[in-house]
Amino acid sequence: MSKKDSILIIGAGLCGSLLALRMAQRGYNVTLVEKRPDLRKVEQDAGRSINLSLSDRGLRGLRLAGVEAEAKEQCIPMHGRMIHDKEGNTFLSKYSGRENEFINSISRPGLNMMLLDAAEKMPNVSLVFDHGCEDIDLENASASFKNYKTGALVTFKGDILLGTDGAGSVVRRGMFNNRNFLFSFSQDWLTHGYKELTIPPADNGGYKTYKNALHIWPRGEDMLIALPNMDGSFTVTLFLPYADSDYCFENLITPEKVQEYFQKEFPDALALMPNLTEVFFENPTGPLGTIKCSPWNSFGKSLVLGDAAHAIVPFYGQGMNASFEDVVVFDEVLEKFEDKLLTGEVDWKKIFQEYEKERKKDTDAIADLAVDNFHEMKEHTASELFQQKRKLETAFEAEFPDEYYSKYSMVTFNENISYEAMRRGRAQDKAILNLIDDGKLPEIMSLNEKLILVKRTTEEILDDNAVLGKLK
Ligand SMILES: Cc1cc2nc3c(=O)[nH]c(=O)nc-3n(C[C@H](O)[C@H](O)[C@H](O)COP(=O)(O)OP(=O)(O)OC[C@H]3O[C@@H](n4cnc5c(N)ncnc54)[C@H](O)[C@@H]3O)c2cc1C
Repeated sequence: MSKKDSILIIGAGLCGSLLALRMAQRGYNVTLVEKRPDLRKVEQDAGRSINLSLSDRGLRGLRLAGVEAEAKEQCIPMHGRMIHDKEGNTFLSKYSGRENEFINSISRPGLNMMLLDAAEKMPNVSLVFDHGCEDIDLENASASFKNYKTGALVTFKGDILLGTDGAGSVVRRGMFNNRNFLFSFSQDWLTHGYKELTIPPADNGGYKTYKNALHIWPRGEDMLIALPNMDGSFTVTLFLPYADSDYCFENLITPEKVQEYFQKEFPDALALMPNLTEVFFENPTGPLGTIKCSPWNSFGKSLVLGDAAHAIVPFYGQGMNASFEDVVVFDEVLEKFEDKLLTGEVDWKKIFQEYEKERKKDTDAIADLAVDNFHEMKEHTASELFQQKRKLETAFEAEFPDEYYSKYSMVTFNENISYEAMRRGRAQDKAILNLIDDGKLPEIMSLNEKLILVKRTTEEILDDNAVLGKLK
């Protein structure tokens, strides 16, 4: 076993390209194979920029590979949620009381291209595009691909194979279909789907609405959100049930019905989207689901990472961030065992198993938190109780920056706290909501007294949960 082992990575999306870069930096020979054309050579449709929110966990992964500063050049800070009610009133609910805590809007293709550029500069990375993986030999770390340009079937092989081929992973399917080991798999779909729309830039190239926020139009069942792009546009995403609702994807099938729905629910957003119906019918409707599986490795030769191992719903803006954090954790485990790997005292199986032991509980936790946040965003952000809670939390964070972290802060801005530890965040949310609702945090109480009570109640809830856990 030499340090120059070859790694075959399947899928050059966000996770695969960062992973390829990092593994090359560690001295491995990497072949990164992607089914789509090289997106740096394909003309990007300016009207359809897709963006993502990038936060501390993702930035940590980029920092590890030395590309954080370059990514930040493409970032637009978003300091809070701009909530839009049906009358068009807006208010900004800050993400944190600490000034330095905000999330960033970044272009998905822009970030992916930057990572591919950085990977390509490494002498030990070979990039292959237009090759779709069709079949996997998990035990031998090899896979066959269709060359979409010639139609030929090609085989690539590594000493190990890393599958970063996204939520519909062919590598994971290979694991599922293999009868030689027990592979658990679950896939939970929401009854909602999503559709990307756009608010074009203003005539002068500026922004038609406030730039530095994640805009939300919460409507109970449905929700519209918008994130800013560098060119003055916003990528808008509609989350709507597929069926069984007055307005749903199944019945929004004519321009008139789409206009009627937006006029009723999102009139201020409609006024910013002159091309709404055109884009609505042009763009596909996508499903939203959570995928969990285990084990992530097979035969000590193949491993899945990123969405291939743990696809989550997008409501915490953490899928890409978690996938980048996978690279950090994988790198840490490799660092710990690499000397022994080189001398043959441990094998890749051990590294893959240690990685999963370290990581799986956290990705399971963020998957569940993301579903929680779906309900919080579409239903609760508009409620008076929720707004009171956020106000109190930002006051705690501003006044006691080292003592209080909201659940959102722990998930989004504290890459040193594992996602798993954020179960505490749930208890804290419950405590604070109950206390406000029961009138136990009156104005006359000092902020410090309120904090002490919230902390004590949180501990009580955690204790209760622990006792219940023992009964299970
Ligand atoms: C609507 C929506 C909004 C989101 N918003 C956010 C957000 O704000 N913040 C955030 O952190 N996350 C967000 N996410 C999640 C994020 O998109 C994913 O978690 C992230 O893209 C995962 O990266 P990945 O590399 O694992 O998978 P992907 O980005 O899906 O990349 C997989 C790659 O593998 C390639 N591939 C697939 N099959 C094959 C094959 N057979 N052969 C070869 N190549 C193959 C694909 O072409 C692709 O390039 C969002 C997701 C959705 C759906």
